[in-house]
Amino acid sequence: MPSGESGKTDNDMFVNLVNATAEVDLRLSDFHPRSSLQTAVHTIERARFPVIDYHNHLDSTDPREVLSIMDQTNVEHCINITMKVGQKALDMMDKFHNAAPDRFSSIGWMDWNGLDRPDFVKLTIDRLHQMVEHGAVGIKFWKDLGLVLRDANGSLLRIDDERFIPIFEACETLKLPVMFHTADPSAFFEPIDAENERYEELAAHPDWGFSHSPVSKRELLEQRNRVIARHPNVTFVGAHCAESGEDLAYLSGQLDALPNFYIDISARTPELGRQPYTARSFFLKYADRILFGTDLLPEVEMYRLYFRFLETADEYFEYPSHASRQGRWNIYGLFLPDDVLKKVYRDNALKLLPKLR
Ligand SMILES: [Zn+2]
Repeated sequence: MPSGESGKTDNDMFVNLVNATAEVDLRLSDFHPRSSLQTAVHTIERARFPVIDYHNHLDSTDPREVLSIMDQTNVEHCINITMKVGQKALDMMDKFHNAAPDRFSSIGWMDWNGLDRPDFVKLTIDRLHQMVEHGAVGIKFWKDLGLVLRDANGSLLRIDDERFIPIFEACETLKLPVMFHTADPSAFFEPIDAENERYEELAAHPDWGFSHSPVSKRELLEQRNRVIARHPNVTFVGAHCAESGEDLAYLSGQLDALPNFYIDISARTPELGRQPYTARSFFLKYADRILFGTDLLPEVEMYRLYFRFLETADEYFEYPSHASRQGRWNIYGLFLPDDVLKKVYRDNALKLLPKLR
């Protein structure tokens, strides 16, 4: 508060008294502030209701170790989105399904090998049939489609390329849900500079940046959404809040326009948890369309942070992550009601996993 007519503040006068010194020009990488905020901490050791982790990558893990973590945290079922292709993908599916058939499922990875072949679409449909024979419950298209993959003429492939229509028709016949991880966080499409909110992460991984991409993020999402609209009898899942977590009004509009579209929340607690009022309303309104997923190697503490985010009203805590932090902020819990928690944790996923019902 200003004190008197001199314009000096209480703090100015205090500095004069104690002659405080401060390090100047501290490097950003050396800046690790500790919050002095004291707030309630509620550790959720086990999820309030059984959980299906719809988005994880377990290829490098031992199924028995994952099962132990699942048992400790009330994760009933975990989906391995294998990143292998060909025979290795089929072997990976067998490995998890044999280890615990009622605890693991698999989503296949779209295999672009042979893209130059004239019979590529037929080859892909054959591969889909093989994966389903090995128990696959979905197929994932990654961000390479739209950003980097090129056809035999060297042109960048569009996500809504009409040559791929028969592939999605095969997914309809096979009742195979399709996951899209299209584009990436908005900051990845911005220059890696002093204004980028994920500067430290992108400076460590400059190859994650797409600021020079010839296609904008919005255009990529619109290409994806045209595919979803074109195949109304296929169920689609937008990984990572359909890459729209920074703009929940835009995400709501997409869900309103596309009734066959679900999202998973994997790796997006940082986005959702820094806008808790908007995010909570979003969860209440779209409770039937949101799938729990993590996209983080199973660890007890990782799952507990997800549960703390969804179940408690705790304030200003670290979001779940492993090595790299997304940005310098903390999150707030959404204290979701039981009926919403049940849907997000399990019931919505069951709609996409008929064998488990
Ligand atoms: Zn993933």
